Order: sequence, then C-alpha cells, then structure tokens
Amino acid sequence: MSVSDADKLYRLQEVHGKGLGLVAIVKISKGTRILSENPLLRVPRSTQSKKRAGKALSKEISALSDDQRRAFFSLHNAFTDEGTQELGIVRTNALPLGSNASTGGIFPEASRINHACIQNAQNTWNENLQQLTIHAIRDIDEGEEITIMYLSDRTNRSARQLALEKDFRFTCSCRLCALPEPQLSLRNTRLDEIMWLDQYIGDGEHIAAIPFQVLQAVRKLLRLCEEEDIDDATIPRAYYDAFQIAAFNSDRARARVLAQRAAKARTVIEGDDSPTVHRLEELARDPSKYPSYGCASQWATPVDGAPSGIPAEEFEAWLWREEKKAERARTQQPTQEGGEYVDLRNETMFPCFTELPGENDLDLDYLKSTDGFMYRPRKHWCFLAEIVDIEDFIRLRLIVKDKMGHKTTVAFHTDGRGNELNPSCVQKGYTVAVLYGEQHGFLDMSVGIRQETPASLRIFPVSLEGLFNLSDKVQQYASKAANGARTCQGCGRQADTLKKCARCSFFWYCDKPQNLNVLTRSVDQACQTLAWNEKGHKGDCKLLKDPGLSGLLLLPQGGFTEPYEFLVS
Ligand SMILES: [Zn+2]
Ligand SMILES: [Zn+2]
Ligand SMILES: [Zn+2]
Repeated sequence: MSVSDADKLYRLQEVHGKGLGLVAIVKISKGTRILSENPLLRVPRSTQSKKRAGKALSKEISALSDDQRRAFFSLHNAFTDEGTQELGIVRTNALPLGSNASTGGIFPEASRINHACIQNAQNTWNENLQQLTIHAIRDIDEGEEITIMYLSDRTNRSARQLALEKDFRFTCSCRLCALPEPQLSLRNTRLDEIMWLDQYIGDGEHIAAIPFQVLQAVRKLLRLCEEEDIDDATIPRAYYDAFQIAAFNSDRARARVLAQRAAKARTVIEGDDSPTVHRLEELARDPSKYPSYGCASQWATPVDGAPSGIPAEEFEAWLWREEKKAERARTQQPTQEGGEYVDLRNETMFPCFTELPGENDLDLDYLKSTDGFMYRPRKHWCFLAEIVDIEDFIRLRLIVKDKMGHKTTVAFHTDGRGNELNPSCVQKGYTVAVLYGEQHGFLDMSVGIRQETPASLRIFPVSLEGLFNLSDKVQQYASKAANGARTCQGCGRQADTLKKCARCSFFWYCDKPQNLNVLTRSVDQACQTLAWNEKGHKGDCKLLKDPGLSGLLLLPQGGFTEPYEFLVS
C-alpha cells in the first residue's frame, strides 16, 4: 500500500546540511500516521561475510522491478568503503523490523527520514500489516523536518555523537546536540539518569525483589521524560513495566489502569492497529492474563478497585502507592520552600531516623545515580538527634534520640574512630547533625548510622529542643517577611531600616530604642540589648557563629547541585 502523492503529509526535499529529508507540508498532529510502507528489501542485520552478503543482496536487487531498483539506488550511501554500493546503501538505510529483530528493511521513503536526538516521529514495524509505520509523536509544524531516532539509547551527547559517527557516519547538530553549556551538562546528566532508570526498571530481578522502589523509579522516569520533552516509546514501556509490577503482585486494580495507559501511549506512536496495542488492551481488560500474574499476593486488589471521583492528584498518589507520602505532605506545616532560611523542623529536609533511606535499598527519593553503581544524594537532608549516651570502646559510639524519641547509634568508622571530634563537643544533651545519613544494619543486627566521613557530621552545643527553638526564632525574625521587611527581634516591629547583628548576621534590630513598643521594658533599653539579654540571643548568636550551623540554615531549598559539607575544624 502506498499513499497517493496527493494525500501525502510530507515532501522529499533538501534539508540544510543533511542532504535529502522528509519535510511536513501541513501541520501534523501528534498520533497521526505519517506513512506506512512495505520494504523494498529485507536484509539480515547480523554480519555474515561481506562477500556472501553482497552476493545474496545482488540477487535480491536483480529481482526487483525497474522502479524499485531505481528507488533503491537513489538512496544515500554513507559507507562507500563497504565493498559494494549495494552493501553501503543497505548499511546506511536499513530500519529494524521489530524492536529486537534480526532483520532490517530498506524503504523507499521511510529510509530517507533523518535522525534527531529528540525526534518528532517514531518508526515501528507492524507485524499485522507487514509494514513499517511512521507516527508523529508530537505536533509537527508545516515546514518542519520529520525526524526519527536512529539510536536505541539516548545517552549523553558525546556518547551519542560517537555512536552516530560509527554507525551512521554523520555528526548530529539537532537542537539537543546544539545546546550550549551549561544547559548541555544539565541535559546530559538528566538523559543519563533517564537511561539508567530505564535499565534499572527493566531488570526483572528488581521487579520481583523491590517492587515499590521500581514503581517509584517508573514514576520518576515518567516525570523526567515529561520535563525533558521525551515522548517516544520510553513512555509506554515505562507504564508497561509498572503494569508488570502490579500484576506480579496481584494488584489487578492498578495493573488495569497501568495497562490502559500503556495502550494509550502505544497507540500514539504505533496506531490502533498495532498488535502490541491489542495485547495491552487485552491485559487491561484482564490483568490476570499476564504470564507472571499473581506470583506474589502482597498487593492483591479486585480488578475494578481503582478509586473514582477523587482529584487527579490523589488518584496518582493511589496509582503509585504514594498515599502515605501524600498524607505526610498534607499534614506538614506550610513549607518554607524557597524561604530565606531552612526550617530545622522541616520533615523532608530533617527526617527522623525511621524516614532515613536504607543503605542497601535504593531510595530514589534521596539518591540518584547516572551509572547504576555510584549513588549521590539528589537533595539535601540531615539527620538531627540529641546525644543521650556515649560509648568509647575501640571506637566512639553516640547513642542519640531523634525528635520522635527514637533511639539509635551513630558509630564512628572514620580514620580517627571519633578522635577527630573536639572532645568538648562530645557531651550528653548536645545535638548531632549527620548530613545525608542512611540507616545501616550493623553486624549485631541493630540498625544505626555508620559514620565514615568527618565532614558530614557536626555536633552543636545545644539540646535538640534548643536547636528547634532557635530555628523557630530564625523563621520568625531573621527571615524576610512577606512584604520584604525584616522583623526586629527586640520589639517585633517590621521595617526596612533595621540593622543586622554584626556578630551572627542573622537577626535584625532597631537602631534606636522603640519606646512605644517596648511597654514593659525600660525605655532606654535598645532592642538589640533586650534581645541579647532577655530573648536568648546571647546564646543563639554564639551558636550561629558556627559556620556548620549557619551553613545548614542557608542550604538551598530549591535546586540541588552539590552535597553540603561541614568544615572540618
Ligand atoms: Zn542530536
Ligand atoms: Zn526593635
Ligand atoms: Zn547575633
């Protein structure tokens, strides 16, 4: 089947710097089938001897009609050193017949579609039609070039450039490759993360062993794809992976919704006549048809158990099993997100011990990796707890109590085994702060924190409650008010003429006594003196002069770039 020229949505034309390409002659909306084409030739993708391959190919080409042969030889040859022109054309133009197929096809029109690293169309071999289909995976403007992705992985730019040079002999200058620094580095990191997540999710062992984490990984992947404007087969594949997790664990309600979403996303890129879409629709009707359905029953739900009539956000929380997290977020005090100083009572940045990530389970709320081996924090967090006991046998062990009253141990596996700490700080009733702390299972089966690097731990000479009180004062007085003004800690007056405490640089005071406002005090007492003597600023100011504490209060609350470290004194 071929569409008559009059109905075509595109035209073959010269594209700047790329030779010929397909360009849209009308606006093509997302999901439209741009073309559907029989192969001129089918060719094995694996390598046999060039000589034999060349012979077999010549034979097939001689069996083509004159028109077909003309079409074949009009295709571009990037591999003029391949032995014969025919072999060069095949190597340049073959498109896979199926995702894991060992055969490729040469297509008169589809083979002319150029590559872009963020493509706007997707090629799929449709087994039922025995044709290759090209679908718009996003809206394509009139005059815009139609592009597909030649690579199976969207790696960082230099890896992509290497692969394209080696396998296709061109240098890509698509809008992703053309990005300048620093956007480029940022995109590279995110693309690496997407690819890594995709592989992590695809690992069958993960799906069985740590289903919840994989489910979170899928959600994260989908979010990243949305942010990075990626609309290709990664999306239905991710939904299908999530479907498999739900089905494996007998969760038919979520499995159904996830299969429906996979089918919908697949339809956009393959059409409703795709056999893959049909199979997904069947799984959506009855998730128990999935071969590994019910291998575990921990999440069993009835097939029509999806909640209805609830806001979309709540539905998503249900779908991804994040209701508890959503609940926590709702009950939390209004966050100081983006506020000037960090609130040490913030549950997300200062989690209690039970909320800390486990050292061995990959908690993607806290960690990220670009290679699957090295994990780095993806945000700032810090464990705060008060020292209630001290053991110093072989190594220092602090028994600490967090804000929930949970007792745990911080064991020093640093080079100095704890001797690197200033002994005057190691006291009961003081507060320890552990940056990026993780739960560690010790050999005696207890769980605590294994402290390895001196720079991630700091002891503040104040109780946990005292530290929270100081944080409250910082929130109330030190931070700029909504109107941009500062608040005097002495009299509570807001003004933009206040003077900063020269010692700590956190708190602000009137520069003259505010007689009228300080009703109960001597009119001569200046606000700073009042706060110093009566509102605890004497002690607070001293604490705040510790760069470790002021650094914590100044941690950025929006984006995350580098992990924070306490200065080792
Ligand atoms: Zn590119
Ligand atoms: Zn004042
Ligand atoms: Zn001060």
